[in-house]
Order: sequence, then structure tokens, then C-alpha cells
Amino acid sequence: MAWDCCIFANLKKERLYNQHVNLPLLKNNAIELFVKREDQIHPFVSGNKFRKLKYNLSVAKTKCYDSLLTFGGAFSNHIAATAYAGFEQGFSTIGVIRGEELRLKENNSTLAFAKSHGMELDFVDREKYREKDSESFIKELRKKFGNFYLIPEGGTNDYAVRGCEEILQDQDEDFDYICVAVGTGGTISGLINSVQANQQVLGFPALRGDFLQAEIRKFATGSKWKLIRDYHFGGYGKINLQLVEFINQFKRDTGIPLDPVYTGKMMYGILDLVEKGYFKSPCKILAIHTGGLQGIEGMNQVLKRKKLPLLA
Ligand SMILES: *Cc1c(COP(=O)(O)O)cnc(C)c1O
Repeated sequence: MAWDCCIFANLKKERLYNQHVNLPLLKNNAIELFVKREDQIHPFVSGNKFRKLKYNLSVAKTKCYDSLLTFGGAFSNHIAATAYAGFEQGFSTIGVIRGEELRLKENNSTLAFAKSHGMELDFVDREKYREKDSESFIKELRKKFGNFYLIPEGGTNDYAVRGCEEILQDQDEDFDYICVAVGTGGTISGLINSVQANQQVLGFPALRGDFLQAEIRKFATGSKWKLIRDYHFGGYGKINLQLVEFINQFKRDTGIPLDPVYTGKMMYGILDLVEKGYFKSPCKILAIHTGGLQGIEGMNQVLKRKKLPLLA
């Protein structure tokens, strides 16, 4: 299948690896930390968004759909990934975007990227956006855009979870903890379904709210997981000086770039928990780098307006 031999080929070039993180804090606590560099799968269809689109696109192709419709916010990695994957795979794409006011923000880098790869953007206000899973709204959208293959917000559905079950490999069996950032819960569900009996999955939600537990239970079969809710920094897409400085320092120390919405918060959480003695040491932790680096440019536009230092 074309999808497999283009973007999927990247996976087979052994560019993906677990990178050892060498920090005094870890050594002093007898903890080994590795980062699975899923961010290197593809510059735009990065990390978990590749995993989540993989089977959805092959199903859309098999069922002869020629357009994809999905949902997302202003800096959505999923919108960027769907736009690019659709562009490369010959689907037309429609993005239903949360926030009527964004229509006028020509300089939003994620939306400009999506548009330049052929995505038609449909802006709706926040109230309308909340109906994104309702049948009547979907019906309205079908009236407007014709027949399309529907991918839910963040890409999460059964096919996405199946794709995320392929993140962990044989070589990962000796890790004690698998850590991952959580948005809609699709990625962590795939990990939960594929871990070994001796492994625990720790999820770091990038947003506030209690609905995630139930979402994850819809897709995940295992029980060896836990959400750690202390590191959302005020909510989805929220950022402060402390987080910017942490991400920049981490990159200087390790060479690993983190994104400000998901992986930066997860890594802040992991190292904070190490400091607090949360992990049973000695132990081995694998942190999944789910990608999202395309969002840095957009966040830097926000930081500039707030007169905060930029992400390097
Ligand atoms: C979308 C995204 C997540 C969240 O994944 P879910 O499956 O929605 O929980 C985590 N990290 C990055 C970088 C993402 O883009």
C-alpha cells in the first residue's frame, strides 16, 4: 500500500531508537531514563499522529473515500499531520477548527501549514465545536462537504489505538515504567494494551479535567496504568516561564527537543517525580517522545506577545 511504502518507510530505516538521558539527577537516584524518539518518524506526521493515522488512512483507502474530515484547535499536531498525510496520499482534507476568531489569524503557523497542503479549514465557535461528536453536527458537515472519512478529534478511535499498540517493541520489555503525555487518551490506550505484566504505564495529561479515565477505559484492556495530573501547567496549551526554561535547559543538557504542549510537561513531571522519590529505584523508565515539534513555532508567536523568552 502506498501509505506503507512512503511515510511508513521511515520506520524501517532504524532512525527510531531509545536515547539514553544522562543527567546527574538520574544517576544520583539510580534511575535509568530513555526517550523513544517517535518524534523522528516524520517532520509533520510526527510521533503518535503517524501511529494514529496509519490504519485510519488504509481503511479510508480500502473503502474508497477520497476525502478526510477531522477536528482540532489552533496549534493542533493532528491537524498538521492529517493535512500532510492527506496531501501525500491523495486525499482531500477538511479541518473543522475550534475558534471562529482564528479565521482572521493568517499568521497562525499550524493553520497556514495545513492550508498550504490543501486542507480546507472550517472555523466554528467553541460552543459549536463541543458538538463535534453529535450526529446532527456530522450530518450538517456531510451536507456541506459531501461524503468523507471521519477521523475524530486527536485522531482517536479503534484504528488509532491499534496503531499505537505498535509503539513498544521487543527491545522495550525490560523497562519498569512507560511514560507518555495524554491528550485524548488514544496513545496511552495503545501502550496499556501492549505492555508486559511487569510494566506500569504512567500518563501525564496535558489538560485539566476528569473525563480521561473513562475515555481510556473505552479503549484499554489492561489495568497497569495511572494518570498523574499534577503537570498540566494550568491547562491545555498553557505555558509559563518555568516550563519554557525547563524545555530549553533539557535541550541544552540532552540534545532532545521537547514540545511545549505535551512532551515538555511530561518530562518536567518525570524529573520532578524522580526528585521527589516517586520511582522505586533502581529502575528503568522509558518516556515516549510523541512528537509535536511543529507546534513550537506557533507557541513562540504566543510567547513573543507575552514578552516571555522563546523556545530554542
Ligand atoms: C496529540 C498528542 C498527544 C496526545 O495523544 P492522545 O492520543 O490524544 O492522548 C501527545 N503528544 C503529542 C506530541 C501529541 O501531538
